[in-house]
Amino acid sequence: MPKKTTDAIVVHCIDFRLQEYLNHWLLENIGPGNYDRVSLAGGVFDLEAIFKQVEISERLHEIKKVVFINHEDCGAYGEAGTKERHEADLRAAREKIRKYYSHIDIELHYLSLAGEFEGVL
Ligand SMILES: [Zn+2]
Repeated sequence: MPKKTTDAIVVHCIDFRLQEYLNHWLLENIGPGNYDRVSLAGGVFDLEAIFKQVEISERLHEIKKVVFINHEDCGAYGEAGTKERHEADLRAAREKIRKYYSHIDIELHYLSLAGEFEGVL
């Protein structure tokens, strides 16, 4: 029987400039082939859309962890995309997931254009 569950869902932006960093970081930190992956412009920008994906991932794959990654200079945010705004949106996303799935761990990261991952508390 093929495996039916996985550890995590990862959500990040579509931006081509970051994909190499994301691939490398995910391999190091989540492992190969061990997560559901959502690539959507703005990362958690469209929280309703993201929430639906988490819902499906949880239902089908019994995930234990959610990883949200927003990034510097995100075109989906435009001028409004300050670091503070990204952090606020990431925290709001965490609150929403927590409300519905209290058993799931949630990790937040802010990714710079230079490829540095910074945890958001
Ligand atoms: Zn972006």
